[in-house]
Amino acid sequence: MVKRIAVVGAGISGLSVAFRLQEKLPDADITIVEQASRPGGTAWTLREAGFQVEIGPNGFLDTKESTLQLSRQVGLEKELIQGSEARKNRYLFLGDHLRALPSGFCSFLWTGLLSFRGKFSLLWERFRAQRTETGDESIDAFARRRAGDEAADVFADALVTGIYAGDPKLLSLPACFPKLADMEREYGSVIKGFFAEARKRKEEAEAKGEVYERSDRIWSFSGGMRTLVEALMARLTRPPQFGVAIRGLSKSGGPSRPVWRVHTDGNDGWDADAVVLTCPAHQQATILAELDGELAQSVGAIVYNRVVVVALGFRKSDLPAPLDGFGYIAPQNTRRDVLGVQWCSSVYQGRAPDDCVLVRAMAGGWNRPEIVDWDDDRLLTAVRAELRLAMGIESPPIFHKIIRWDRAIPQYQIGHLDRLSGIDARLATHPGLYLGGNAYRGVALNDCTEQGELLAARIGRFFAPLAA
Ligand SMILES: Cc1cc2nc3c(=O)[nH]c(=O)nc-3n(C[C@H](O)[C@H](O)[C@H](O)COP(=O)(O)OP(=O)(O)OC[C@H]3O[C@@H](n4cnc5c(N)ncnc54)[C@H](O)[C@@H]3O)c2cc1C
Repeated sequence: MVKRIAVVGAGISGLSVAFRLQEKLPDADITIVEQASRPGGTAWTLREAGFQVEIGPNGFLDTKESTLQLSRQVGLEKELIQGSEARKNRYLFLGDHLRALPSGFCSFLWTGLLSFRGKFSLLWERFRAQRTETGDESIDAFARRRAGDEAADVFADALVTGIYAGDPKLLSLPACFPKLADMEREYGSVIKGFFAEARKRKEEAEAKGEVYERSDRIWSFSGGMRTLVEALMARLTRPPQFGVAIRGLSKSGGPSRPVWRVHTDGNDGWDADAVVLTCPAHQQATILAELDGELAQSVGAIVYNRVVVVALGFRKSDLPAPLDGFGYIAPQNTRRDVLGVQWCSSVYQGRAPDDCVLVRAMAGGWNRPEIVDWDDDRLLTAVRAELRLAMGIESPPIFHKIIRWDRAIPQYQIGHLDRLSGIDARLATHPGLYLGGNAYRGVALNDCTEQGELLAARIGRFFAPLAA
């Protein structure tokens, strides 16, 4: 029997799951449907006037191996590039000027970002009692409980701003940063956990005769993130159907092996034995509405922030100082017009012509969503005013690109993990239906590629009895 599988969405999640399904089930008939006219979703690179602008992700870390492994598997070893050493220079924009983030223990002791009391409170984390309550906890509450108010206001807020462009008082710690919750549970302290895990990785590397390297490097491709999308596309046995939006799902046949009908806009559609939705949660909710109202409601309750990316190119000679770092974050509790600026051409080669630099400002986020609606002139004026204050750039940019995301990054708010349990319970009543994408178990590219692999493995197990 041919296994017919429909994958909805050709973002990095949909492409990863389809690629892994091809490996696991080489005889499966996989149809990928994508409502846009190109693949990649939020992961894509624009190339214009010698600038290479990422419209979404700027790169990925090697703290998880999934994206690096996938990249090598699709033949991108030679295109992979690592972020420069300069990336280690990171700044916070506080009190109207840039302040270096500490990069190690000594610089932490000297930093002016925390008072003596604030530093002591953070270091005391390793002696604080473990949490005894079992319910969910916000990132803000976790940081205050473990490291003190100053560390929560400065470092925890900056971390959340940089990754989620969200509000640490609303986001769930175990859903957004499961590793930190695990460290407290396992080692009694996050600081102890970091040291214990680093020691473990070092011992493992030495046992294998490898040189231990800290895994916190950032990676991309010489041609930008779009390279990964295009390489995955090139390896699909059948390209996605573009310009097709899925609007609904229905099922017929026996309860344990239903036949799924995938409905498109015009109400036509086709049959599948398994369906994987990887489009954003609100789209998944629309697709699921007629099939299962309760499931659709839970999925639709996963909210997203709004973000606008403003990429600016400047002549090097117009900058008061060379760009030498990853960029800066303005913690969202400062409510500035710009959440942060990445110094793209300082992190990766080839992002700008030789005599130019490229930076990307992010604005909006959970607490300033209205900024995304500002017209281009107002946005450019606001971003230039921030760059003048933070980096002393007076000259106008010679290039700009503005990308608005009405639903940018899912916000795993308090209760997210309970919601996932409820969703899983409903899914158990729909054999052959799978939900993926960044709305559930991690927003980073690494999470999407890892989940793609895990989902493909589950679908493989679903079909296994048929093969037996
Ligand atoms: C501005 C920004 C910066 C980011 N920076 C980073 C970073 O530096 N590092 C990092 O690791 N991550 C980053 N991320 C997060 C990461 O890019 C995303 O989590 C990831 O790319 C999401 O991939 P996805 O396939 O799950 O979803 P998407 O990319 O949203 O893809 C979903 C696809 O489904 C399609 N679709 C929607 N509805 C339908 C429908 N009804 N029928 C058919 N198709 C449909 C869409 O058109 C889209 O192509 C960033 C995200 C943003 C927005």
